[in-house]
Amino acid sequence: MIITIDGPAAAGKGTFCNYLAKKYRLAYFDTGMVYRAVGLQMVLTGCDLKDQAKAAEFARTLTFPKMMELAAHKDFRSDVGSNAASVVSAYPDVRAALLKMQQDFALNPVFADGSPAKGVVYDGRDTGTVVCPNADLKLFVSASTEIRAQRRYEEFLSKGIATTYEKVLQDMKARDERDSNRSAAPLKPADDAVIIDTSAKDVEVNMQKIIPLVEAVLQNLTIEK
Ligand code: C5P
Repeated sequence: MIITIDGPAAAGKGTFCNYLAKKYRLAYFDTGMVYRAVGLQMVLTGCDLKDQAKAAEFARTLTFPKMMELAAHKDFRSDVGSNAASVVSAYPDVRAALLKMQQDFALNPVFADGSPAKGVVYDGRDTGTVVCPNADLKLFVSASTEIRAQRRYEEFLSKGIATTYEKVLQDMKARDERDSNRSAAPLKPADDAVIIDTSAKDVEVNMQKIIPLVEAVLQNLTIEK
């Protein structure tokens, strides 16, 4: 079973993915990591983020072990890593180079310890439109920019990262703008995606909406949207 969950930053994709991965024994592929890895490599090696050829070279040579090594860096999830990922992810050559790695994962999905999984839940921006257009279930999760910025701000504070709400909001708007208006795989719901707005409802309420959809897939029934 392949489930894709797309949407903008801090919309709640990770919460849904973790929940479904655990409940249905699915491997979780956070596809933002591949772009963060390439962006951070650019930053750490002092490359200009505008250098598309260099970014594509890093993308072509990226491996899972290298990605996990970069994921341990303090800036992998910071605003530095987020902005670098957002810039390099707009380059068509970077996206093309990272596509196979993401698609291949579904052929032989495994958990972090190497044991086999029953499928994959993908978290990203284009996993329902480009990476897995034939996914069994596609969700598109969203919430207002202000609510997403508040969530990210609180997350940064809880990790001891010094910032302000205004800066987080500004960065988020810039990232949304780049992700939505780029020509290569812009952020948008797949035509057959189920849209979930997480602005008001709590996680449990949304889960009660999603679980029947997953169960329907499992029973090979038509998905009711
Ligand atoms: O999801 P996350 O915030 O880690 O993603 C970092 C950046 O990577 C996003 O802002 C987006 O620009 C890019 N991305 C993408 N396509 C994906 C996943 C992430 O373009 N499937």
